[in-house]
Amino acid sequence: MTIPSVDVAIIGGGIAGSSLAIVLQRDGLSTAVIEREPAFRDRVRGEACHPWGVKELYELGLESFVFEAGGQRIPNWTQYRDRDVDSTFAWEEAFPGIYPEIGFSHPALQERLLRGATEAGAIVHRPARASIARQRDSWLLQIDGPDGVYDLQARYLIAADGKTSATRKLWGCETVIDPPHHQFGGLLVKNLNLDPTSSHQGFHTAGFLMIFPQGNDLWRVYYVGPDNPTEAFGGSDRIGTYLKACAACFPEDAFANATPSGPLAFFPNSHVSATRIAGEMAVAIGDAAGAPDPSQGHGMSLLWRDVRVLRDLLRTESWQDVAVSFAVTRRSYETILRTHAAWVAPLTTNVSEAGLALQAQVELARADDPEALGYASIFALGPDSQPTDDDARAQFFGEHKAEHPIRIDTPLDKID
Ligand SMILES: Cc1cc2nc3c(=O)[nH]c(=O)nc-3n(C[C@H](O)[C@H](O)[C@H](O)COP(=O)(O)OP(=O)(O)OC[C@H]3O[C@@H](n4cnc5c(N)ncnc54)[C@H](O)[C@@H]3O)c2cc1C
Repeated sequence: MTIPSVDVAIIGGGIAGSSLAIVLQRDGLSTAVIEREPAFRDRVRGEACHPWGVKELYELGLESFVFEAGGQRIPNWTQYRDRDVDSTFAWEEAFPGIYPEIGFSHPALQERLLRGATEAGAIVHRPARASIARQRDSWLLQIDGPDGVYDLQARYLIAADGKTSATRKLWGCETVIDPPHHQFGGLLVKNLNLDPTSSHQGFHTAGFLMIFPQGNDLWRVYYVGPDNPTEAFGGSDRIGTYLKACAACFPEDAFANATPSGPLAFFPNSHVSATRIAGEMAVAIGDAAGAPDPSQGHGMSLLWRDVRVLRDLLRTESWQDVAVSFAVTRRSYETILRTHAAWVAPLTTNVSEAGLALQAQVELARADDPEALGYASIFALGPDSQPTDDDARAQFFGEHKAEHPIRIDTPLDKID
């Protein structure tokens, strides 16, 4: 019996995997998506996408899925100090021509995109798992799915199975976890008395909070801080304690009717790298190719850039060469995000004497170079050509401005 075959098999039907399936189907390629979860649920994941990622989303022609999933534009950004508005800005005024941020429910978008993949003609196996082996000139998948066990052949294999990807191990990829610097927590909340056209950022003594509207009067409340979350938000009413800590950074009535609407979860801020993004006729995308520091909020933007870059390479290059080209390009923009996250971490959650002195030194550097070597606009314009070497680090931290410069140690394992 002939084994059915597709051009591209995608392991993981999260936002990266289904986005890729849709755009490849539109290009006339046949795809299969293997997703292990029968239904998506709130696992506290990315629900606000920075402008550079929204641009990628529009370039892929996938924006309608966000709005169909109940998502919304977030044109403004408001900052608070001591519970009062400290500053506001509109993305489009600050960066004319830019797409503003968007907010959405992660599981709702996962469901909508996976359905979109089916509508575009992809074969979706769910809930399913696959055993995968490399044959002479194709991949052989044995899929254990709802209708039994069946074989599938694919010319090309994509690992889109997230930060702990098992698929990438097929080509000897290992995981490198950067040292954690702080903690990042999130809770979904209903009924906040805040402007739904804005993201809201408040500051507590040792870090900050970000609140993103995602439509339907739902808000994702993220907390960034150095505290041990088990201690700081432990006990029998950990959600109540969390809400209280968050409410204290915003105007009096903002949380008056706040109702928790999902689990509270904390994560270390570590960037997680994949040592090998490319295999033979195979590549990893999204978090499987390297998951950025969640407290910087670049994960969705990064995965939509991956999808666009990979789609364009599959259109133009010999498929034998695509994986290496993709890996080199991916590593270049990922390294900028990884470096920036490591540099800003001690500036945002370190209130020790040394931390405050470092912040003062950096302020001197910003007076000379408000653009911070291009990093100041990274949330709007994305990683482009910002430098990441030692000279750049010294300039970023203003080491040349001080007689006795404070040097921070940001040792990141080199990954080729
Ligand atoms: C707390 C937190 C907050 C975040 N906030 C933001 C934010 O505000 N903005 C932002 O841009 N990013 C944010 N991110 C990052 C963002 O959530 C991720 O980058 C994004 O979800 C990655 O999507 P993905 O599709 O690559 O991977 P995943 O979302 O992990 O999807 C992988 C999929 O593969 C499936 N799968 C896994 N293994 C298998 C298998 N063996 N077989 C079949 N299927 C499999 C899984 O079920 C899942 O559906 C945040 C992350 C965290 C942890």
